Amino acid sequence: MRLILLGPPGAGKGTQAVRIANKYNIPHISTGDILRKNIKDGTELGKKAKEYIDKGLLVPDELVVAIVEDRLKEEDCKSGFLLDGFPRTVNQAEALDKVLNNMNTSLHGVINIKVDKSTLVGRAVGRRICQECGATYHVEFNQSKTEGKCDVCDGELYQRNDDKEETVSKRIEVYLNETAPLTEYYSKKELLENINGQQDINNVFEDIVLALGSEK
Ligand code: ADP
Ligand code: ADP
Ligand code: ZN
Repeated sequence: MRLILLGPPGAGKGTQAVRIANKYNIPHISTGDILRKNIKDGTELGKKAKEYIDKGLLVPDELVVAIVEDRLKEEDCKSGFLLDGFPRTVNQAEALDKVLNNMNTSLHGVINIKVDKSTLVGRAVGRRICQECGATYHVEFNQSKTEGKCDVCDGELYQRNDDKEETVSKRIEVYLNETAPLTEYYSKKELLENINGQQDINNVFEDIVLALGSEK
């Protein structure tokens, strides 16, 4: 299955992506995770990306398109893939269409997780991430068993630099201006599946599985 997860910051893309990737046995490709790994490792790409990420702005299209193009050519993507946080602009979506076209393949569906703006800020600000394995928690809605420690690997949990309230608001604004138009882009291609993200994590997942039911 070749899928895209769309939705504003804090909608629950990463949380659902882990479950979808497990169920359908496809790699979870998060451009945000890849960029944060580059920042952590101090690469040139990481240095460039950090300037944008810390301000809540999008990293330039050419940088992320190159990341995704390389990643999709890896062996494990032959069985399918789940893109999380990419594409984020119409320009990226068009670039992805070209890449897939050149690979003689295409998308099965685009899952659009919908959540009200008023809910998003609290979700993102309360998000905590494991420093070691990247697992995602929430201080209120998805707590780890031991405060500040990861259930999976016992790693330390941290708050993302860009999950401060001010930056989150900026990211939501950027989403509305630059990414929201993609719902129309994929709706026209009859690929869009709207999902109510304003429910319990397990119920959101059930709805996604139902929506994908008709796919291969
Ligand atoms: P979110 O949880 O807000 O959806 P991500 O982890 O997907 O966040 O992305 C964090 C940041 O990384 C974004 O605010 C942006 O600066 C950068 N980024 C991630 N994916 C992309 C992309 N496809 N295009 C441009 N910038 C991106
Ligand atoms: P995204 O990748 O879209 O930015 P995440 O999956 O990281 O979103 O979720 C943002 C925060 O909200 C995390 O702290 C996560 O634990 C929490 N969260 C995710 N889905 C739900 C949900 N359905 N209800 C409540 N909290 C949620
Ligand atoms: Zn962990």
